[in-house]
Amino acid sequence: MTSNEIRRQFLLYFESKQHHIVPSAPMVVKNDPTLMFTNAGMNQFKDIFLGNAPAPYPRVSDSQKCLRVSGKHNDLEEVGHDTYHHTMFEMLGNWSFGDYFKKEAIAYGWEFLTEVMKIDKENLYVTVFGGDEKEGLEMDMEAYNYWKEHISEDRILRGSKKDNFWEMGDQGPCGPCSEIHVDIRDAGEKARIPGRDLVNKDNPQVIEIWNLVFMQYNRLADGTLVPLKAKHIDTGMGFERLCMVLQGKKSNYDTDVFQPLIQEIARKAGKTYGQEEEADIAMRVCADHLRAVSFSIADGQLPGNAKAGYVIRRILRRAVRYGYTFLGFKEPFINTLVPTLVGQMGDQFPELKQQKELIQHIILEEELSFLKTLSNGIIRFEKYITDRNDKVIDGAFAFELFDTYGFPIDLTQLMAAEKGWTVDMAGFEKGLQEQKQRSRAAASVDTDDWVNVHPEVEERFVGYDTLATDVEIVRYRKVKTKDKEFFQLVFDQTPFYGESGGQAGDKGTISVNNEVTPILDTKKENNLIVHLVAKLPSDLNATFHAEVDAERRHATENNHTATHLLHKALRTVLGTHVEQKGSSVDNTRLRFDFSHFAKLTKEEIREVERLVNIDIRRNIPLEEHRAMPIAEAQKLGAMALFGEKYGEFVRVVKYAESIEFCGGTHVKATGNIGSFKIVYETAVAAGMRRIEAVTGEAANNLVNEYEDQLDALKEMFKNPKDLTGAIQKLQEENATLQAQIEKFQQQQAETIRKEFEQKVAANPIVVERIDGDINLLRNAMLQLRNEHPEMALVLGSGFGEKPSLMVVLGQQHVDAGKNAANIVRTAGKEMQGGGGGQPFLATAGGKNLEGLKKAMDVALSMIQ
Ligand code: ATP
Ligand code: MG
Repeated sequence: MTSNEIRRQFLLYFESKQHHIVPSAPMVVKNDPTLMFTNAGMNQFKDIFLGNAPAPYPRVSDSQKCLRVSGKHNDLEEVGHDTYHHTMFEMLGNWSFGDYFKKEAIAYGWEFLTEVMKIDKENLYVTVFGGDEKEGLEMDMEAYNYWKEHISEDRILRGSKKDNFWEMGDQGPCGPCSEIHVDIRDAGEKARIPGRDLVNKDNPQVIEIWNLVFMQYNRLADGTLVPLKAKHIDTGMGFERLCMVLQGKKSNYDTDVFQPLIQEIARKAGKTYGQEEEADIAMRVCADHLRAVSFSIADGQLPGNAKAGYVIRRILRRAVRYGYTFLGFKEPFINTLVPTLVGQMGDQFPELKQQKELIQHIILEEELSFLKTLSNGIIRFEKYITDRNDKVIDGAFAFELFDTYGFPIDLTQLMAAEKGWTVDMAGFEKGLQEQKQRSRAAASVDTDDWVNVHPEVEERFVGYDTLATDVEIVRYRKVKTKDKEFFQLVFDQTPFYGESGGQAGDKGTISVNNEVTPILDTKKENNLIVHLVAKLPSDLNATFHAEVDAERRHATENNHTATHLLHKALRTVLGTHVEQKGSSVDNTRLRFDFSHFAKLTKEEIREVERLVNIDIRRNIPLEEHRAMPIAEAQKLGAMALFGEKYGEFVRVVKYAESIEFCGGTHVKATGNIGSFKIVYETAVAAGMRRIEAVTGEAANNLVNEYEDQLDALKEMFKNPKDLTGAIQKLQEENATLQAQIEKFQQQQAETIRKEFEQKVAANPIVVERIDGDINLLRNAMLQLRNEHPEMALVLGSGFGEKPSLMVVLGQQHVDAGKNAANIVRTAGKEMQGGGGGQPFLATAGGKNLEGLKKAMDVALSMIQ
């Protein structure tokens, strides 16, 4: 039976059982934040199971395109290496929405496999849920008893919660399931080990083909299970696996679903399938991935830089790479398989046929661009190997191959092994982690592939010696951030310093004829200096005049050199325990983090400032060693940074006693800095301090700012001879006034107390609205209550436009069980507030002044 016939038979069978046949949903999921691709037949019915939508038919059946390459179901790494997992596959399924349940589902499944498809019963095993103590669930005896009607009991196996209890998510519909497994081993093998011992044991010839899920519970948010009112059936059978069984094959790839593609690939590669394991794997990978990518493009998801698009791009690149390495395809070839695929599946999936040209074209473009970086990377790799002889590929280089050239790490390992080399995997992992962190920080930046303009050369930095030179564009690429689009350029040589070692990147221009392209920023990616522009120059092949913004660069250099002088001064003033922990310099300021345990005193700060300024006035010339053997640099006493990786040769920057390992740009002589002023000193972490400082003109501006503040103050005090004396006098006056106010308040409280004393004498329960701060009456009221155990008082106030309430109870009321705190809490709700206090005196504040009257009424009624 052909695969098309098998699919047809399946749908016909369920149609005969009153199932409505529906088309496959798209493989690409558009509006579900939890899912990028359809990974099971039930996805498209999720809303019905969740009760969000009514079921259009009580019984449904279909063949669903699935892709399992991300999230909960990710089979990508298995694909090609084994014979029964695919990225894209078809899942045959039948559903009952509140209609039939276990009895029929089991009977249908069994009848279809054994009666219609005529699979030998001796080759089948089934599993049932064996129960779970923790969940308080018993074994699924119902299913067990139905199975017993069809199959001998020694073929019914009990499964764990992991294998036999299906859940859609943390919450929602779920239930036990039954799997049907098939044993396709030879008779000899079967005699040796019984099939039942191999079920769910990852044996490629004893595999699950069908899973019947019985949805009968709903899992609530707190984890408890409650029975579903309407019980559902959800089944899924691997179409390719079914074909393998029915066509008497040992591998999905030997069926007519894959053979036309496999044979086409073998022919193009000049190989025979089934002769050489590595080539076979590669052929399977190519055939499988072609399907995944083609169906995805047909469903509207093109390869891209982010999310679902990136998943598809990676699948395609995996195929290109296997083809390149194991099948010798140095030219695009996957796209040439599209017609075969369409010929084979286009009738069942018309979307493929309709978009055949588009699919082929997109795959071709992707292959072209990837093959280019792949071969550039291989050239880089060869050069790396010939340039050294330590037999270890360092992690940073392996990461560069991965990041810039798209080399999966296993490819690098393979190429290394071929030459008798190994790869520093720990270093690679580190690079990967760092990149993840960077990309998280730079969230949502899309980068296209590099486009080569001139032949690849190693980019030279000439910016230590010159700020202007002629450059050529070697390659460029497009980058997108949120809503802006930029381009990154790589030159053959560049005067622009790329942000690194804490020093900001240069800005400037490149120009040719009359066209000037601003360089907005310069960054370093691995070892590459990349220049950011908003628009590409019109002639990419031209020779450009590149010019760094000199003023900006010089201001940055002032700050960078000052950082070195600061480092030295701190060690002189505080001690040699001071170590640089971080630094950041640009044209506006410098920031320096260092280890030290106490806040710097004012004197220490002054002294540090003084020492730096002395070095500035000494006008010490720069002594630069561009490539000094590291041992020699250490002998010189150069300060290195912890956690930094240095090569055999280092650059040393020296200003008299200040000697550092440093790749940054610096002033020719310290006098250029002009002056140095600390803006603040603060803690950044335990044992770590930070100083921010300014130099040159910025230092002058800072002093001017201080002067302006002082002038403004003087003016406020009418230019007194003694400004501090004047401010002191003002503070004293203020304190005297404050004391007077308090005295008045006390007097007022006393008056009020007397007033209330009279009221209480007349009537022990007083309700009163006043217009003052209730809290000031606290002491007076306490005194009153101590003298009058029979009194009760409800005070309301709208002081400051906010309602507040005070309840005071004499001892009699408290003894009778009344509680002022409870009363204000309940009454407070009337004015959208709350409060508390003690049983004899409590207060509440609120938000709604309108409710004050009601609150007072409630309080009174609670007292009475
Ligand atoms: P397996 O253990 O084989 O990975 P599974 O438990 O992941 O299977 P289900 O999620 O229950 O499988 O999917 C239902 C059916 O879909 C399986 O019984 C199997 O026939 C088929 N299937 C699952 N994953 C794949 C795949 N990657 N390629 C082809 N068929 C698959
Ligand atoms: Mg699986």
